[in-house]
Amino acid sequence: MTEMTNAAFPMPDPKMGEPYLLTPGPLTTAFSVKEAMLKDWGSWDDDFRAMTRSLCNQLVALAGGAAGELVCVPMQGSGSFAVEAMLGTMVPRDGKVLVLANGAYGLRAAETLRVMGRAHTLIDKGDYLPPRGDEVGRALDADPAITHVIAIHCETSSGILNPVAEIAQAVHARGRKLLVDSMSAFGAVPLDAGQIGYDAMVSSANKCIEGVPGFGFVIARKSALEAAKGNAHSLSLDAHAQWATMVRTGQWRYTPPTHVVAAFLEALRLHAAEGGVAGRGARYALNRDVMVAGMRDLGFETLLADRWLSPIIVTFFNPAHPNFDFQRFYQLMKSKGFIIYPGKLTVVDSFRIGCIGRMDEHVMRRVVTAAAQSLAEMGVDSAAPPAAAIAERAKLAA
Ligand SMILES: *Cc1c(COP(=O)(O)O)cnc(C)c1O
Repeated sequence: MTEMTNAAFPMPDPKMGEPYLLTPGPLTTAFSVKEAMLKDWGSWDDDFRAMTRSLCNQLVALAGGAAGELVCVPMQGSGSFAVEAMLGTMVPRDGKVLVLANGAYGLRAAETLRVMGRAHTLIDKGDYLPPRGDEVGRALDADPAITHVIAIHCETSSGILNPVAEIAQAVHARGRKLLVDSMSAFGAVPLDAGQIGYDAMVSSANKCIEGVPGFGFVIARKSALEAAKGNAHSLSLDAHAQWATMVRTGQWRYTPPTHVVAAFLEALRLHAAEGGVAGRGARYALNRDVMVAGMRDLGFETLLADRWLSPIIVTFFNPAHPNFDFQRFYQLMKSKGFIIYPGKLTVVDSFRIGCIGRMDEHVMRRVVTAAAQSLAEMGVDSAAPPAAAIAERAKLAA
């Protein structure tokens, strides 16, 4: 309970008896974030307009970049709505996108482009292998029609942190434009607009800023967004129109998620109090290190080598032991106060444990203890993965 007494790092109220969400959003939020939603706001009122302005200014400051270079466009809906708004707005109707996929979110970006009828091509690396700068360069050299590249910063399906800087270099060297899905990384992993030079990136309220779900946001180079007027395939998911309305009236175009915005401002306050991106990233990295070390002590193995492990979410192989059953493990972990996450690998069975949200290393130690107890209750005396999992992992080293 020591964590409850730390005023600089308010935790969820244990009286509410909620399990910790070891999932990459929605995630466990601070009590004060939930409390911020107890008031109703008029969407047209000056007070709420000031809240929207503050939200946008703070996000632009977090993104870095030169003064006046970037603008923020909040967009109602879950993160995928914001991805769709970014793609549909930033890519001209006669543009062509190279999608870099190594998991579900890269594939979803390709599916989004297919549905909206934008030309695209795919580098699909499978479950987790990272798209590298040299292969991106080769793909761009081979196809001059490609105007944009979309990269996933942290591919949340495996937890891999993709090499965005190296990809950005390959894209810019060939005069093409970069879009980044930094949904699960923004706010905890640096993505300096000055260095990465993206045209736009996207994230949402319920990931590393630790707000509640309800909106996403596009952060775009102002000149690129200005040039994107009229591109959008959709009325409600037009990021340029949303931005133009906000500049003109200070209001969202259609009903904003007022309570979510209020909660997000409190989440941003806690983010700043923790030391911004560096402070938040350091806590998540410690969460990961403590949890991974403890799980490895139990015999679990990670899909990824340390070099590729993000501080966001970690994939573990299911143990080979015949008594191990993921559904049972999930229920046992839940009964001990922890909601874990099924894996998304297609070749071998796996599960994931998130490191983000209102949790610190004390909580992560309790996660490891709960995993040890759950294994014991299932009669699993070794968490070692099957040989097929180790063979799969060897591909990353090759
Ligand atoms: C969470 C996430 C999204 C958006 O998912 P929603 O369920 O629509 O919020 C997109 N990309 C990545 C990498 C994500 O982690």
